[in-house]
Amino acid sequence: IERPASIVKELVENSIDAGSTRIQIQLEQSGLTLIEVTDNGIGIERAELPLAFERHATSKLATEKDLFRIQTLGFRGEALPSIASVARVTITSRTEHAPEGASMQVAGGECQPLIPAPCNLGTTIKVEDLFYNTPVRLKYLKSLQTELGHCLEIVQKLALAHPQISFQLIHQGKTHLQTQGDAQLLHAFSSIYGKELAKQMLQCLHTYRDHTVKGIIGLPAISRANRNHGLLFLNGRPIRHFGILNAIQEAYGHRLPIHRFPLFALDLELDYSLVDVNVHPTKLEVRFSEEADIRTAVREAVEQALDQQQLIPAFGASVPKVSPNRIITNENYEQVSLPQLPQQRRTESFRTGEVREQVQEIYRPLSPQLESKPNESPASTDQAENPAAGRLLQLKPVAQLLGMYVVAENPDGMYIIDQHAAHERILFERFSRNYNERNVSPMPLLVPLTRELTPGEKTAFERLQSELSLLAFDMELFGEFALVVRAVPDVWAGQQPETLTMEFLDEWFQNMQTAASVIGKLEERIITKACKAAIKANQWLSMPEMAALCKGLDELQDPFHCPHGRPILLHFSHYELEKQFKRVM
Ligand code: ADP
Ligand code: MG
Repeated sequence: IERPASIVKELVENSIDAGSTRIQIQLEQSGLTLIEVTDNGIGIERAELPLAFERHATSKLATEKDLFRIQTLGFRGEALPSIASVARVTITSRTEHAPEGASMQVAGGECQPLIPAPCNLGTTIKVEDLFYNTPVRLKYLKSLQTELGHCLEIVQKLALAHPQISFQLIHQGKTHLQTQGDAQLLHAFSSIYGKELAKQMLQCLHTYRDHTVKGIIGLPAISRANRNHGLLFLNGRPIRHFGILNAIQEAYGHRLPIHRFPLFALDLELDYSLVDVNVHPTKLEVRFSEEADIRTAVREAVEQALDQQQLIPAFGASVPKVSPNRIITNENYEQVSLPQLPQQRRTESFRTGEVREQVQEIYRPLSPQLESKPNESPASTDQAENPAAGRLLQLKPVAQLLGMYVVAENPDGMYIIDQHAAHERILFERFSRNYNERNVSPMPLLVPLTRELTPGEKTAFERLQSELSLLAFDMELFGEFALVVRAVPDVWAGQQPETLTMEFLDEWFQNMQTAASVIGKLEERIITKACKAAIKANQWLSMPEMAALCKGLDELQDPFHCPHGRPILLHFSHYELEKQFKRVM
């Protein structure tokens, strides 16, 4: 027991284990003077109250499931006695069949006599004057705000892990957190992160080979600068798992800017027999057999949820939602699906100016089972059979704007393309393809480059030397602590390969402690640098150049985001334009 927040965690976890549906946590002075946790769980029999304070007094050793929990999550029957050794503890409890409750104080590790107490079903544990007998107390008194933050964070995580339980955290009379306990993860999320963020979360539910992944993930637009907002649970228990985090990051791929991390709360529903229990008891680190499959399940779950969204930010507000069972957006940043009409049909109705009909078609629900119009046009069947057709934008350039944007049109309306972002994306995918098809060769530098290495950098280099040569670098150690670079990947041709190489090495050595999935990351860096060749703002384009850019978009897997995750194009539908001009309401 090292801090108030760890006591909060132990007590709340006990309440969860007792089957509670309501848990209230009251704190004074960030828990230093008072932590009181009240639950409506099964309670503790009067005669067993003193036993709960004996070491190894756990009542939780029954099934295989419990064994897992005991070994991985530190259920060793030690929390209550440890707490009682650093604070004054009062426990009050009543079980279902007991006519009245009982209460007992423990001070200095000594149980006081039981006294009868009128109380509701469930348990209240009151922890007062924490660390009263130790100098540590002073340290926490100085950082009350930080400590409150830790307590809040723990309760938030547990609340997200248990949306079926209503949590309330009160500090000095003020409620800091309250969840409904209606079993809706998104509602729990909303109580913690607010409504606006909750609107930008997508539901995830996917099963791959018996492994189910369930939860919510954030749109790329609400990414964060660190990993603290991604929560992973294993059958409802918070865990950490580096490989799974990576799988999630991979699924977001280039939708996320570099160094940004998604918000998510995902629960893995797995058979406990797949979980390796030989792990650190308090850090919640676990290992899986069948890890590869579990990663696939997670990656597919996230990809699917993201793919349901075609992420073009549309101008304006009131575009009908496409898929009613998904939470899509907030009002100002509507993400809409491109209509998936067969090309033939689109062009025709465009030419003949059937704008109104077009508008109706565009905003008809896309999924075939939602169709209920009596006189169906043949278009709808095609559309269901050939969803990929909808991804081809087939844009026709109209003009360049401000030296930065290309205005283009297709039967679905008007588009504004960020020329730099679009070109960057085209180069990015082309070079990625080159790498995938092993179509990259080392390009010799005119003059080899030399760079000094620190001992740490040298070790890092030695570890990765073979990967770097796979990526078409020719580098080797020279003398004790120098690196010579003789050739670099030819995707850097036409630029200043020396500068790129130096930047690449600096960045890599700076991040090497954190670089986990090494080869993929290195490749991404190389390609990102290659994309510097993309046309810039203030570069004037001819019509054929603009047409080539538009054509390039149709060859892309993701024509919607530049490699840094920013949007490539904005869409103004007919409907939106008509609305803005008040031709329709
Ligand atoms: P553990 O949780 O590892 O079993 P603890 O020291 O945290 O050990 O708790 C000891 C025992 O006290 C538990 O096994 C449980 O039987 C009982 N207990 C503690 N808190 C509660 C509670 N809120 N409701 C019901 N029983 C509880
Ligand atoms: Mg416990």
